[in-house]
Amino acid sequence: MNKYFLVIDQGTTSSRIVLYDKHFKIFDIIQKEFMQFFPNEGWVEHDATEIWNDVKNLIAKILKKNKLISKNIISIGITNQRETTVLWNKKTGTPIYRAIVWQDRRTTKLCEKLKKQGINKKIQKITGLEVDPYFSGTKIKWIIDNVKEVKKNLKSNNLLFGTIDTWLLWNLTNGKSHLTDISNASRTMIFDSQKEKWSDEILKILNIPKKILPTVVENTFDFGSTKLFGNEIPIGGMAGDQQSATIGQACFIKGQSKSTYGTGCFLLMNIGEKFKLSKNRLLTTVAFKINGKKMFCYEGSIFVAGSVIQWLRDNLKLIKDTGETDKLYKKANKDENLYFVPALTGLGAPYWNPNARGTFFGITRKTSKEDIIKASLDSLSFQTYELIECMEKDSKIKISEIRVDGGMVKNNSFLQSLANVSQIKIIRPNNVETTSLGAAYLAAIQSGYLNSTSQINKLWKKNKIVKANISKSISKSNVRKWKLIINTVNNFY
Ligand code: ADP
Repeated sequence: MNKYFLVIDQGTTSSRIVLYDKHFKIFDIIQKEFMQFFPNEGWVEHDATEIWNDVKNLIAKILKKNKLISKNIISIGITNQRETTVLWNKKTGTPIYRAIVWQDRRTTKLCEKLKKQGINKKIQKITGLEVDPYFSGTKIKWIIDNVKEVKKNLKSNNLLFGTIDTWLLWNLTNGKSHLTDISNASRTMIFDSQKEKWSDEILKILNIPKKILPTVVENTFDFGSTKLFGNEIPIGGMAGDQQSATIGQACFIKGQSKSTYGTGCFLLMNIGEKFKLSKNRLLTTVAFKINGKKMFCYEGSIFVAGSVIQWLRDNLKLIKDTGETDKLYKKANKDENLYFVPALTGLGAPYWNPNARGTFFGITRKTSKEDIIKASLDSLSFQTYELIECMEKDSKIKISEIRVDGGMVKNNSFLQSLANVSQIKIIRPNNVETTSLGAAYLAAIQSGYLNSTSQINKLWKKNKIVKANISKSISKSNVRKWKLIINTVNNFY
């Protein structure tokens, strides 16, 4: 009987189910996009019930399509969009409000208030995070303060909180497991990443009752099992999407870094077993805890990455397909100096300015569509480079290469731009679906098919290495201009 690991990769715009064979090759993958709700300026919501139904149906569909039964599945791994917040009634299984998505900025004022009171320093020390609407903490508080159902659900002890991992697990296990893993917990802004427990101090500040929170466990764990697809299938692995990609990219040694270019861009650098705060506005986050060994990462998040290419397609209608940008980049005017700060929804690390907005610099009579495309892709290279600089300063480690993945890394012009701006080696692995791969590895460790992370190292294979083809001095001069421009934008807003 052929056996597979089944991965649930629940992302921001779509849910994917990926089947991996025992050699960690993708056997099949299916995907479905789901509804995005934008009820107010800066608000982004998902229907958690729709997400769960999609995931359940996709699993049934992929099994049926491949004529598989539950016995063919060794174990399930879950990886997910992080920070997105769900509160639900444990008797009915119904969310009491739509899921508030990580991109949602509705708690900006509350975060500003916490910063004014100086509470952000305390929160950063405990959680490693900046105080920002991005994380779950203030989203939970918003639901508690604004949704009528909260009171009676709390009184009857029927209210539960979870990020998407927890929500899916709870549904898969028919309400038996109310758990989260340490990588997801470390993104809530209410979790003490060193002591590995919910922070009573922050819960008090945000007025969040502890009883609604899930239990936090390692990334490999007996999370329970699901009986929804026939016989019991164990659930053995769980990690937030970026940490899962870090595992999928086999970044297990201090200093190793990966950058994922999907809707947003997330650069993570392994900083070893010690929790260390950044002095350059990066996040300190738990990379993973496997077999009792915990590692931390610095993380830099750029909120608008692949979504700027979607914006070129859907709003400016410059392209029909995102893939066209590769060829068009090469046709840009060599003597144009167009810069674009794509702060369409604010700036993430290291600026953390939710109010910033997109800005073009250097438009001339000659500026063409190709120049706009080039400036858009280059902007991600410049932003990545700024994050690299911060990481090198904080860690005192020189980054000599970055492993890249995500939808944008199919684009060879973009990879060349990254190499030229950063002047370091850009490495694309064979399997760029590293997010789901990480969760497959976790499930494999829990079920005994892999026994350590060193085995994952051997499985990681590169597909392409891109090196700079412009000089360091030209690159430096371009970066200098970029910094002037992004600082101007940041100061303006
Ligand atoms: P997510 O997992 O965040 O949904 P993916 O990793 O699937 O994202 O990547 C999708 C993103 O990649 C989209 O925002 C899209 O604009 C961008 N993208 C896809 N193909 C290309 C390409 N060839 N060049 C540039 N961007 C691309």
